Amino acid sequence: MENHANQFLANAETALHNDTLQIALDRGTTRAVNNRINAMGETTDAYALRQQGRAARLRALHRLPELLEQLEANLTKRGVTVLWAIDADECNRHVLDIAHKHNVHKAIKSKSMATEEVKLNDALETSGIEVVESDLGEFIVQIAHDHPSHIVFPIIHKTKEQVRDLFMDKLHMPPSDDPQVITAAARVHMRQKFIDADMGITGANFAIAETGHLVTVSNEGNARMTSSLPRVHVAVVGIEKVIATLEDFTTLVQLLPRSATGQRMTSYTHLFGGPAHPTDPDGPEHQYVILLDNGRSRIHATEYAEVLACIRCGACLNTCPVYQNVGGHSYGWVYPGPIGAIVTPLLTGIHNATPLPHASSLCGSCKSACPVDIDIPNMLLRLRGDLVEEHDTPMVLTIGLKGWSMAMQSPALYEMSGRAASLASNAIKGRDGNLHNLPGMLGNWTQNRDFPPFAPKSFRQQWRERKKE
Ligand code: SF4
Repeated sequence: MENHANQFLANAETALHNDTLQIALDRGTTRAVNNRINAMGETTDAYALRQQGRAARLRALHRLPELLEQLEANLTKRGVTVLWAIDADECNRHVLDIAHKHNVHKAIKSKSMATEEVKLNDALETSGIEVVESDLGEFIVQIAHDHPSHIVFPIIHKTKEQVRDLFMDKLHMPPSDDPQVITAAARVHMRQKFIDADMGITGANFAIAETGHLVTVSNEGNARMTSSLPRVHVAVVGIEKVIATLEDFTTLVQLLPRSATGQRMTSYTHLFGGPAHPTDPDGPEHQYVILLDNGRSRIHATEYAEVLACIRCGACLNTCPVYQNVGGHSYGWVYPGPIGAIVTPLLTGIHNATPLPHASSLCGSCKSACPVDIDIPNMLLRLRGDLVEEHDTPMVLTIGLKGWSMAMQSPALYEMSGRAASLASNAIKGRDGNLHNLPGMLGNWTQNRDFPPFAPKSFRQQWRERKKE
């Protein structure tokens, strides 16, 4: 997926006028928010659990290099081949080398943000290897030649009716609005793809250093089948996914499904490590783990390291008033929503995503929903500061803020500006008492909201007059 994050404003404008998208977003995010609140409310002390999860993630980040080495050693002991990828190209090269070594022609893949990030599907298809997404949402996105718009619900931007029409067209499904019929049509199509696949590709939700296990959580069981049915299994895992202990896993696995889908547990929680032993009834003959950096160690060395604690639950997206209205595609890259507004500038370069740190009202809803309490609003503010330091803010904003700063430092100038604003705004107000069709950036406000004129007399004027009386 190309990075179009700098197109955020134009994308958002289009999204706001897309009625079908608005219905889909409203349905999807409302359900997700309610489910999360109910599921977290069931815990004895949700705040304490979140802090426990946060501590587990921060501990792991603090010891990241050491834990990665421990993970590599324990995976190797289990018979896994561990490879390191500094960037997307190296990651894709590793996967293609593995495919060629094992004569792979067909691959099946479960949902993985890391593989989206490195555009693995494009690399495989260019090399003539067929790759099929096995997660239902990702499969729909794939056959629709679309992109996921959410970390957990890739097709949150689609209505059930759109999926029905797509399946009737691509899978020749008989007309039906019944979700079970729609799901069954995908299952029939996918079953053979699983059987035919030479290679399974997954990500991992966690990588446990002390045991050398990878973990996937899913509701469809596809991640488990993808990692165990084909003769070769490759897991592409971002280096930040490492956690120290099995005990930390037991904390985090209580938080992830509750925050992501509002479930106490997902239907499948799969721990795996190592290829099948000769006596095992099934499992892959060869297993590879690719530990992907792709900019993560750079972030780890900055004041933004905390963002790597994210467990990709999507709760901050669902609760964000901006995401709820503009959807995931507006953000222009793999990671949407509040977390995407931080990760995209950090991973792809701040100049390639200048509007994103501003794509937030800083209401703080994301932080209160986050299962590991990441201070998203604070990081967005700091990124805005970085943009100012790099002189990458719109000219009109820079001039406006300089003028504001001058006025705030001089009582006389402050009063004069207030009077000028009051005179001008009262002169041009409409019949309903509000301002309309203001020029330039101010017009963005008056397009959709009321803008009352400044008070005819300021507080200071009134104070002086009353004192005289
Ligand atoms: S930042 Fe927090 S809420 Fe958002 S996806 Fe990551 S873990 Fe979930």
